[in-house]
Amino acid sequence: MAKGALSVDTEHLFPIIKKWLYSEKDIFIREVVSNACDAITKHKRLISLGEAEDDGCNYRITITADKDERTITVRDNGIGMNAEEVERYINNIALSGAVEFISKYEGEASSGIIGHFGLGFYSMFIIAEKVEMFTKSYKGGSGVHWICDGSGSFESEECELDNHCTEIIMHVSDDELAYLDNEKLKTILGRYCAFMPYDIALIEGENETVVNDTNPLWQRNPSEITDEQYNEFYKKVFNDYEDPLFKLHIVADYPLNFKGVIFIPRRKSGYDSTESEFKLFYNSVFVADNIKDACPEHLVNFRGVLDCPELPLNVSRSYLQNDAYVRKVASHISKKVADKLNSMFNNEREALEKNWNDMKPYFEYACMRDEKFGDRARGCILFEKTDGGFATVAEYLDGKDEGTVYYTNNKEEQSYYIGLFAEKGKSVLVLDSVIDNSFAQYFESKNDKIKFRRVDSGFVESEAESNDALTELFKKASSREDIEIRFVSLGEDGAAALISLSEENRRFADMMKMYAANGSAEVFKIPNGESLSVNIDNPIVKKLLIEETENKEDIAKHIYLSAILLSRTLTAEEAKEFVALNNKLI
Ligand code: ADP
Repeated sequence: MAKGALSVDTEHLFPIIKKWLYSEKDIFIREVVSNACDAITKHKRLISLGEAEDDGCNYRITITADKDERTITVRDNGIGMNAEEVERYINNIALSGAVEFISKYEGEASSGIIGHFGLGFYSMFIIAEKVEMFTKSYKGGSGVHWICDGSGSFESEECELDNHCTEIIMHVSDDELAYLDNEKLKTILGRYCAFMPYDIALIEGENETVVNDTNPLWQRNPSEITDEQYNEFYKKVFNDYEDPLFKLHIVADYPLNFKGVIFIPRRKSGYDSTESEFKLFYNSVFVADNIKDACPEHLVNFRGVLDCPELPLNVSRSYLQNDAYVRKVASHISKKVADKLNSMFNNEREALEKNWNDMKPYFEYACMRDEKFGDRARGCILFEKTDGGFATVAEYLDGKDEGTVYYTNNKEEQSYYIGLFAEKGKSVLVLDSVIDNSFAQYFESKNDKIKFRRVDSGFVESEAESNDALTELFKKASSREDIEIRFVSLGEDGAAALISLSEENRRFADMMKMYAANGSAEVFKIPNGESLSVNIDNPIVKKLLIEETENKEDIAKHIYLSAILLSRTLTAEEAKEFVALNNKLI
């Protein structure tokens, strides 16, 4: 067996590159431009090591498309190559120059050189039928002019070049001429090269447009970034016109090494997708959108930019899907999001409350979906109070870890009941979405000494002595056998009677409602467990106790329907009956 550098049989390799190595064609730009960035980084590094002369050159990369010549040219003033290096790094295509470079300078602080065993250079053949290269090494000597066609055979010769540089000319193949369009190039550069570390200029005649931001926000020190800058960054990267609701900057170095900025966008309408969207970078080079596993599953509607220099650049989606590293990143993100929520809760309460109602569902969902997240974040979930402001469950219970949390799921409909609490100086929490109600049940499951009670089941604290005659009368008036008649003392100004529901039965009925495929009829059918709480202090009720009072049954029915009216919308049947009864009594 022969030993030595591999020289892969290019004839077999080229069709493979073209067909399926890069399912995403646009990627060739990323490969060429990131090679150019690498070449510059290497040059800077050699200068800092004293191995290259500092010629003060203005590092940059230019890209030019020529429609007449049908070429795309990418030029850099990085390290360059001499004939021997072209032979070694380009002709022997499976031997990556970066591997050698890095192993030579291993031990020095890493300067973030992109370089993995790959075929990046040859990805140009996805769109080019011929590639030409002019290059000259920083070490001097003569330049190299190299040409390779789609079959994989190459020619090279010496040429005269002034300075260290590499110029790559792609001769675009007939069926890929669309790439000569500057707008298209700008879009692709915007996607893949927007944050690369040296100026990348697209040349259009006399005009030059620098397409990248060489100092991306996530690479900077969070303490030096303003809210405004985070907002601008978010809007630009995620194409939004509104500021995000929440932002978090992660700089992790040990044991995981990655940086990221994470946002919760404001949703515009119920039709917005709630899917999270994470963009993955490798040392500021775009790798992929929507790496599902990098975003914790329980964080829905989050947006993020992650830069993971520990992942190879040319990773495939399927690779990432099963990658333990990616999963660790995701769980770190989850922890950091919970930490940030806690820190806002403790230190920036006002800012948190400002956008809280819009963010709450995502945090509630995350708590319910992920045990660890829930344990970390549950205590920060705030609810609006009917008497103003917000409170957590613990705050509502004055710091105790037991008690009853009274809530309303409809401030309007339950206003009478809320009023009963307000009279006693008690506030009520607003839990008015499906997810709030699930969250309440989740919270109870975590604290068995805490109970949530909706206002219409919670007001009956002042139970009074029962009265058989009135019980009979109201049973008859309501024409319902299943209803329980109770007596309460709510003061003489209090309503004559109120409907109260058993919390458990009501929850069950709500659940049935949600699952019922068809059925407003079902919805309004009063569930078992409903009771009529008659206010024994009310003057009309008192009248019913007097023997001579006329129309007792009608009055009782009126009281019953009024009670229903205070707890929900009347059904058509009930409304008709109520109006008829009013007419009769008046
Ligand atoms: P990789 O970048 O993964 O090493 P490539 O196929 O993209 O693989 O490139 C092979 C090698 O060719 C690089 O490692 C580098 O040594 C050399 N090379 C490519 N482009 C340039 C360039 N613009 N300037 C200098 N050297 C380059």
